[in-house]
Amino acid sequence: MVQMNDVRKIYDSSGTLALDGVDLTINEGEFVFLVGPSGSGKTTIIKLLTGEIQPTEGTVIVNDFDLGKLKRRKLPKMRRTLGIIFQDFRLIDNMNVYDNVAFAMRVVGASAKEIKKRVPYVLELVGLEGREKRLPQELSGGEQQRVAIARALALHPDILCFDEPTSALDPELTGEVLKVLRDLADRKTTMIIVTHEMHFARDVADRILFMDGGVVVEEGPAKQLIDHPREERTRQFLAHYSE
Ligand code: ADP
Repeated sequence: MVQMNDVRKIYDSSGTLALDGVDLTINEGEFVFLVGPSGSGKTTIIKLLTGEIQPTEGTVIVNDFDLGKLKRRKLPKMRRTLGIIFQDFRLIDNMNVYDNVAFAMRVVGASAKEIKKRVPYVLELVGLEGREKRLPQELSGGEQQRVAIARALALHPDILCFDEPTSALDPELTGEVLKVLRDLADRKTTMIIVTHEMHFARDVADRILFMDGGVVVEEGPAKQLIDHPREERTRQFLAHYSE
């Protein structure tokens, strides 16, 4: 579960007001898209959730951890409840698919027995059975992304966050990846997707939060928000990005 109350974030280095009073709640098992133009504050929200940065004002609660009150030494414990998938996947080039996932588990201290059981399970979840021995460069972009998803899942996160997961992929692959994600959300993993490509959200997301200028301008069920936006800024954004 994620909760933000009246969060403001000013980056000291530039004096930029990145978030100007954000309130949001994301419940367990929800599949949420955080959408908005470049510079609207989406990545800042993800960085606040991981504890990489601190809010200037307001509270951020992630999986029962109040990040404002959390001691630094407790941060790794909170982070283990999160799975983050970055735009560039960050796979290890000289390790095959199986070892990329197994290595991540070893790093957090999983036993050999656990690894042997869990790796095939998560690879099957993302539809990569039969690809275990391939190196990352022997996979399509969509498959590489699914390795990154499997690796995050192997660590049993309560929440999976994706920063612009679809930007590097063509539309066909995007559909394939989103289907995997929808399945995972149905298995009660909370999913937060950051993107500027709203049209992908319509058929898979439970809810869309539309951000602009550091605030949540509008939020609602995915189909409703895309088909009947209430706010002019949302309409403009949709008109700009629809194909
Ligand atoms: P988005 O992810 O929606 O593109 P960001 O959260 O990255 O938006 O950025 C929000 C605003 O904060 C932008 O104006 C950006 O230039 C500024 N910003 C982001 N990161 C930093 C930083 N590390 N230092 C200073 N300003 C930043």
